[in-house]
Amino acid sequence: MRPRDFTAPRASSRPGAAAGGSSAGVRGTGPELFCQLARVVARLAGRQGLRSFTLPYPLAAQLALDRAVLHCLEIGQAPPRSLPELLEWCRHRSAGDPLFQVPRSLITPEATLVHRVGLLPTRTCLELTSWDPGGGEEEEARRMLDDLATRCGHEELYRRCRQFLAHHPVMRQEDRDPRRGWRPAVWSRVKSLYEPLPEYLKVDGLALQCPACDLPALPSSRKAPAPGQLLSGPDTWCEGEHCPHGLPLELVRAPEQVLLLRRPLRAFLTLPRAVEAAALDALREAEMDFEPLPGGLGAYRLTNSHENCVIRVYDRVQPALLAARYASEAAPSTDRTLVVGPERLAGFPGYRSAFISALPDFLSDRTVLTTPSALVNHLSDS
Ligand SMILES: [Zn+2]
Repeated sequence: MRPRDFTAPRASSRPGAAAGGSSAGVRGTGPELFCQLARVVARLAGRQGLRSFTLPYPLAAQLALDRAVLHCLEIGQAPPRSLPELLEWCRHRSAGDPLFQVPRSLITPEATLVHRVGLLPTRTCLELTSWDPGGGEEEEARRMLDDLATRCGHEELYRRCRQFLAHHPVMRQEDRDPRRGWRPAVWSRVKSLYEPLPEYLKVDGLALQCPACDLPALPSSRKAPAPGQLLSGPDTWCEGEHCPHGLPLELVRAPEQVLLLRRPLRAFLTLPRAVEAAALDALREAEMDFEPLPGGLGAYRLTNSHENCVIRVYDRVQPALLAARYASEAAPSTDRTLVVGPERLAGFPGYRSAFISALPDFLSDRTVLTTPSALVNHLSDS
């Protein structure tokens, strides 16, 4: 089993293919340890949050701790004394830390696996687990949607169910109202994709929701504020991570009656919904017809274009991991593809250049990374 080539994510069109199915068995290097910890953090937080761990630790966590200890001894650093301490490291020691030394061609150096305020997996962490050969949380989201499509049986019902999921990551009692888009035929097919709100997302018998991304939020104090008194900012966390500051977080009462969309769908269906909606609105305004591509989380083919052209919509914080994911989905097609991302990410030259330089050669001359506002201009250029 060969180690993953951390210096060249562009070497493979299939993310992680070089790792031969797993990074296990590779002697502990910093980047491998970072990836292993990402899997541990994602798995542990999915079960119970990251706040309370006592011996015996789950096996995967114990193995990661053992590797971290060994790696620290090899590089002359004091090792972590416990799993909580190692998880605390994941909150403060970033990908570029001497402990990990993950190449910036793969992960931005300041990215951590655990959010400093939220104490939960970062988006980088979830994107990294999805880079694994098994596909991680993103592949799980895809499987959930495939199963949903089977349960629906026909395209229009599936489209309505998918739309419902994207717009209802948090389901309160009052959301079960036809005036809010709730339909029994939809609910009966999607309810298995929800779970009770976990304890680690509650504060003083309440929960918080970000008004920008609609996803769960938490204050660093873990104390419930009075209504309207908690604004998003550096001392709050929401699952979207990059929402504007200064927004009043919404109080969710009776959280024991609240259902939460499962995390893979929150991360890979709800989060990109804003950029997907903006991209499709831009196409409609320009009178461009399109149809969804089967199996894609946000992929469309233009149907009245003079060339074969595909639109793929993503909201990812890590441009090199986005390139790897896109490459795995685009191959072996030869279509020209416009990859659409949010303005706050894809609108920045550094993000664009990191994405393009991580693409495999066979894709670089037929791929454009753009934003919803510039999408139609690129189509006019073709
Ligand atoms: Zn948010």
